[in-house]
Amino acid sequence: MKEVKIEKCPYCGGEELQESNVSCMVGGVCVDNGAVRRAILFATVCRDCGSVVRLFCKTPENLYPKKERRE
Ligand SMILES: [Zn+2]
Repeated sequence: MKEVKIEKCPYCGGEELQESNVSCMVGGVCVDNGAVRRAILFATVCRDCGSVVRLFCKTPENLYPKKERRE
């Protein structure tokens, strides 16, 4: 998985960005051929304005293993 670096908030310019688990609020569940795969969602939140700068999954391979991706 590629790493994404966010230096500052694109909305207010704040530099205090906090990464937090939001799976308690949102659960990503994918049903594929009868198998339920769960991916835990994380959000990068600006502590100055509260904007969610990025919403991402730390285990994307749990959703779609690379080899199973559509061509
Ligand atoms: Zn901000």
